[in-house]
Amino acid sequence: MADPPENCAYPGCTLPAEAGSHATMPASPPARPRGIPYHFSLKRQNEEGSFCVLHDPNPDKDVARFQQALDAKMAREEADAAVRMVNLAGVVFPGPMDWMGRTFPKAISFWGATFQGEARFVEANCLGEFRFEQANFLGEAYFHNSTFQGWTTFANAIFKKMFNIWNTTFKGEVSFLDAAFKDAVVFDDITFKEEVRFDRADFCQEALFFDVTFKGPLRFLRTGFNLSLESLALDFTNVTLEQPETASFEQVNLSRASFLRTDMSRVRLVGVAWGPPPRPGWRHPQFQRIVLHDERSLDLRHNSSSSAGTKEAYQEVELLYRQLRINLEREKQEVEAGSFYVGEMEMRRKNPGPILWGPSPFRWVNKALLNIYWVAASYGESFFRPLAIYLLLGAAFALVYLARGFNVPNVRDFYWLAPSEQGFVYDFLLALRNSLNPLAAFAADFRPLDWVGGLLRIFNSFSNVILLAAIGVAVRRRFKR
Ligand SMILES: [Zn+2]
Repeated sequence: MADPPENCAYPGCTLPAEAGSHATMPASPPARPRGIPYHFSLKRQNEEGSFCVLHDPNPDKDVARFQQALDAKMAREEADAAVRMVNLAGVVFPGPMDWMGRTFPKAISFWGATFQGEARFVEANCLGEFRFEQANFLGEAYFHNSTFQGWTTFANAIFKKMFNIWNTTFKGEVSFLDAAFKDAVVFDDITFKEEVRFDRADFCQEALFFDVTFKGPLRFLRTGFNLSLESLALDFTNVTLEQPETASFEQVNLSRASFLRTDMSRVRLVGVAWGPPPRPGWRHPQFQRIVLHDERSLDLRHNSSSSAGTKEAYQEVELLYRQLRINLEREKQEVEAGSFYVGEMEMRRKNPGPILWGPSPFRWVNKALLNIYWVAASYGESFFRPLAIYLLLGAAFALVYLARGFNVPNVRDFYWLAPSEQGFVYDFLLALRNSLNPLAAFAADFRPLDWVGGLLRIFNSFSNVILLAAIGVAVRRRFKR
């Protein structure tokens, strides 16, 4: 005769254990070293004993009997008014689970559950809390055309395969705290009505947000993105943030993130890393700037194909730089803001289409001016560059004046080939005093001997005014900070 049936070893489970199901419950998921431990205990892991058909970790268990036991348990707990939450904690789902068009009338917990096959929630209507804390999705997880009315949490869940969520509305808060996404994540056409948090979540492959609307607060705190991907790690384009000032990215690396057509001007950005660390070498830190992923991919596309369609693309990246600049200026992060300003102007300069205004001749004037401003002053961000150009140009003009000859009234003519008795250096410094003077064109004590010198003097004055203004702008920006 068989022994009287033993109870399932899973804590709180009253179902009889399966004959011969003695096993060690796989730890699901393993406690991860990083991050703050979640509020519930991890004691339930690595249970050993005999389990009921629901908790039996054996992947080859009888699927029909499992389904029968699952349906019975859910029906019983959903009908019992004394049960607040349907308890599917620790249940091991053997094959693909397909909840098509099901209504979940009350709160349900999949705490620590394991989905050994695909988990599909299609046209599901979830009226209460939906809890997947520590759930282990070994197959793909699909949530399509569904509505979640209450709090939904995937805290500490592990998704081994793709997580694909499409045309779904979350009416309550949603938590992805410490979730680990081992494969790609796709949010497509999703509306989050309340707060969503991705704190310390780990995206090991692409995280794609297409047409996602966040109506409430949103937070990415120390969220991990895969920076080794060739393509982008976070696609956050076309995202609608209805309360952008309550959305934040904190201590994350966004060097492989795309934000086109998402308004980033009011999102909180705290301790964000934007790019790979500066390359060591000859480049002065002053000339380095943050290059967004969107600009890098735009340059790649632009170089590999025709320029058709890229005018708007450059304008979009320009707008993104502008929004980030405005954002960081408000936050007094002036160094990054200055770098984004340079990016904004660079997009204008690189844009193959018309820039600013006017018919095509002016377009080239605009472009030429931008080129000069870029080379000469890094759009007013560089102090060193216009100063160096000012001094070098001054020396060059002085040499030319000396070569062409000039007259100092009531003193004498000065000419390279016939130095004065004070010597060449004295003559050169005399010429330099004039070539560095922004008002040299109006100086009465300096007269070039021929028309070439006269013409150069006008050009010299003009460039001096511009270069000194550029130095002034850069100095002013520096001291305002
Ligand atoms: Zn059990």
